[in-house]
Order: sequence, then structure tokens, then C-alpha cells
Amino acid sequence: MTTRLWKITIRIRRQRGTEAVPTWQDFPLEINPDETVLDAVERVWAFHDRSLTFRHACHHSTCGACGMRVNNIEKLTCITPIHSVTHNNGIIKIEPLRNFPIISDLVVDMSRFFIDLENMRAPQVITNKQGRLEYESIGVTESDLERLADCIECGLCVSACPVAATDPSYMGPASLAGLQLSLTAKLPDISARLADNQAGAWRCHSAFECSAVCPSNVEPGYRIMDLRKKIMREKFFQWFGKKEAKA
Ligand code: SF4
Repeated sequence: MTTRLWKITIRIRRQRGTEAVPTWQDFPLEINPDETVLDAVERVWAFHDRSLTFRHACHHSTCGACGMRVNNIEKLTCITPIHSVTHNNGIIKIEPLRNFPIISDLVVDMSRFFIDLENMRAPQVITNKQGRLEYESIGVTESDLERLADCIECGLCVSACPVAATDPSYMGPASLAGLQLSLTAKLPDISARLADNQAGAWRCHSAFECSAVCPSNVEPGYRIMDLRKKIMREKFFQWFGKKEAKA
């Protein structure tokens, strides 16, 4: 436990709406380096600028609300100690998550992300028409599903993903991870069908940035690789029949 206060600069990207021109604003703070980055952002709001907007709730890495980019890396700020990202007299650069529309400052619009996650849990056939995912029910019931319990739906994986940065139709790491868990155990054929498209498992470039930043050890990158294996296995069964494939 460190008791000496550090003098640091919090450099925050300010922006009202995706179309607005972003600016950077510096805030000096004296803070215990054992406190978290979220504590620092709250300190900025409390003592410097009440117009700063950011999202937070549980403060113990359960809700997934406080995801931000800290010194260019996605972090859950409520569990990121200040001493892990800077030093005394140093700077902490804080930005909103990437690959989501910006609402204001550090708050991004995650509504599409949450809808896609729900759609993975109520599985449907997914097609990618004109850059948008379209869903068609395939009649799988709730009892066929398991929730990807470890995922706190923070969106860090989507922000870190180089494919999500260039292709808005990509299902994304968290959705594909949810699909891998919820369906592969009970319905491998449907799981393969859902992920087997150019917006799904095959769009991933295997960068594994998602797994690197996930604060909950969901390992989305490895789950996507497992989905690919299952897809190929199902195709093999389709082509050659289950009995022959096992032989
Ligand atoms: S898979 Fe990990 S990084 Fe992605 S939303 Fe879930 S908890 Fe967050």
C-alpha cells in the first residue's frame, strides 16, 4: 500500500457526439497511486469539471460499465490501479472505447452490441445483407441455451478488435464467444450454421487482441478458433456422414 501522493496529469479526450471534433483536456491531480483510474476520473469530475461524462456503476468489475482506453489499451478502469499505468509526474491518457458511436466524452453507444449479444442467446440464422446483420428465428428454445456467465459485457474486446474497426457487420468477439458456449455443447450443427459466414467466425483475423484485453478471462479469440473447428467438423459430417467421419 502506497501512502505518498503522486502528482499526475489526467488527459481526457472530450467529444460531444461522433461527428464532433475531439479535443484533449489536461487535469492535474494529486492522488494515491493505489487508487484506480476510475477514482481519478471521478476526482476530475468532482473537483475540475462537472460536465465530464463517463459511465460507472459497481466499482468491482462486475457490471462492465467503466471500460475505457487507458494509454491506448482497453481497461476496466475500476480495477486498474494508477501505479500500473503511469508513474509519479506522469500522464494518463483516457479515451472512450473504439468501434462504438460516441455519445459524449467517455460514454459510447453500446445498444447494438447488447442487441447482438441477446440475438446470440436467442439464436437465429444470421445473414449479412448490405452491411447489416439480419436474423431469422430457427426455433431454438431457452432450455437449449447457456449464458456465457463470465462475460460482463464490457465491450473491451470489440474496442480492441482490428476487424470490428473496419467492418461494422462483423459479429464481434463477445457475440461469437457467447455463441461458442451457448450452442456448441448442445447444438453443434446450429452453432456452426450461425457462425459460418463472412460476418462470423471466418471474418476473425486471429489477432487475439480480444483475449488480451478481456478482464474476465472469457478468451473470445480461442472460442472463435474453437467455433471454426466445430464448423469444419460439422461440414465434414455433412459431406461424408457421421459414421464414416468417425472411422
Ligand atoms: S468477452 Fe470479455 S472483453 Fe468481451 S465483452 Fe465479454 S467480458 Fe468484456
